[in-house]
Amino acid sequence: MNESKKLSRWSLTNAAEAGQVIVVTCHHCRITHRYLPQDLLQFRDDVSLDRLSRHFRCERCGNGRYIVLKVHDPFGADFGNLPIRRLEKVQIKKVPVWKDGVL
Ligand SMILES: [Zn+2]
Repeated sequence: MNESKKLSRWSLTNAAEAGQVIVVTCHHCRITHRYLPQDLLQFRDDVSLDRLSRHFRCERCGNGRYIVLKVHDPFGADFGNLPIRRLEKVQIKKVPVWKDGVL
């Protein structure tokens, strides 16, 4: 079974329940960020991980084309060492909705 097939059958909730880490790498800039699935679920629907990868853009090149998403099963030495990007807060954008009426 290849990697992309696996990701299509594995969702954010599956990864959260398995205690996994989502590893997102831009192979153009060689930048990797790691996320906890439970953080991503705070503002995303529970999607399969192959679909999730399309939502990521690289902060440096602004491109999503070189993004590769993987799951990582943390092991002993990861705890206390592995860099993780944690969700600090979710900002809600205020969007005006107009309705035409009369005075
Ligand atoms: Zn990049």
